Amino acid sequence: MQTNKIALLGSTGSIGVQALEVIAAHPDRFSVAVLTANNNADLLIAQAKQYMPDTVVIGNKTHYKKVFDALNPLDIKVYSGEESIEQIVELPLCDTVLVALVGFSGVKPTLNAIRHGKKIALANKESMVVAGEIITREARLYRSIILPIDSEHSAIFQCLGGEYGNEIEKLIITGSGGPFRGMTSDMLEKVTAAQALRHPTWNMGQKITIDSATLMNKGLEAIEAKWFFGVEPSKIEILIHPQSIIHSLVQFRDGSIKAQLGLPSMKLPIAFALSYPERLLSDDRRFDFADYHQFTFEQPDLKTFRCLSLALEAMNKGGNMPCILNAANEEAVYAFLSGKITFTDIAGIIEKSMEKVYFETNITVENIIETDRQTRIFCNELITKPEKK
Ligand code: MG
Repeated sequence: MQTNKIALLGSTGSIGVQALEVIAAHPDRFSVAVLTANNNADLLIAQAKQYMPDTVVIGNKTHYKKVFDALNPLDIKVYSGEESIEQIVELPLCDTVLVALVGFSGVKPTLNAIRHGKKIALANKESMVVAGEIITREARLYRSIILPIDSEHSAIFQCLGGEYGNEIEKLIITGSGGPFRGMTSDMLEKVTAAQALRHPTWNMGQKITIDSATLMNKGLEAIEAKWFFGVEPSKIEILIHPQSIIHSLVQFRDGSIKAQLGLPSMKLPIAFALSYPERLLSDDRRFDFADYHQFTFEQPDLKTFRCLSLALEAMNKGGNMPCILNAANEEAVYAFLSGKITFTDIAGIIEKSMEKVYFETNITVENIIETDRQTRIFCNELITKPEKK
């Protein structure tokens, strides 16, 4: 059998590393054609030595020589720079592009892969958030298939199996509620980055872990779901489910609800996106109902977790508002991680950006790039001149 040749963008992050484990477990199915990383040259080199891709790209050009010197003797091609990450996906050496990049940086490579008819396994929710309208339109045009890796969207996608033509009445996106569930605004004022990075049920990269603590992650997922499944914002609901076993649900017009369950592990949605429509054999630990005496559910606290209400507002507003929200969130999260602002400042910075950055209903690649740039400039002003906050 021919192997599915995979370009893995963002191979040194949490999703990238787990994707390589899935690939390694099924060498008869998958081979690694391309690996890319932004800064982690050492891990990229180690991964390339193990998986022997055709090509690697290191985003940060200052690491080029180091990566080249290590991999050139092995006959692995080495390129550097963001443009190379964008261009490498065009080549015939890959069939599937797994986008595990973080943040806005995923937009251009994803679009380019779609325009070259590649199958996309998308872990980079931010690209759907800021450019969902363009991505879904181009995917139809170029007949590119996009499969979700985000666990909630994978769950919804699995629930939709066999439901072709049946109208979705409601999508219910579940979330654990993060490490600060139940806290008041006053308590949130004082939380540290170290506390925010301690997620109760999922082990993930830094950006998404902070997004999970602010509940922004659920907001981004609502916008992602709107585009992935083509549903109206009014049909999307967020439900807090602290055990993280039910990964999301779909309600149909006859009132029936389907859910997908499992222990929290990203390997399952990664494998499903790569092998769809087939399910691969896995020996990961199984969920056992006997271990859980109850599942609990609650409404999200939108007043305390303002990032989520801002994201839902941006979803309803449409246009470039999700792009403003996303750029402001990225800037604010990194400012929080480096100790420049408090946890509750994150929502304040996003809110100000949504008020002040120019709103546009018409979405093109050029105007989202410009919106992203303008928003980041605006945020950095707020972060460095805190009296403006
Ligand atoms: Mg998720």
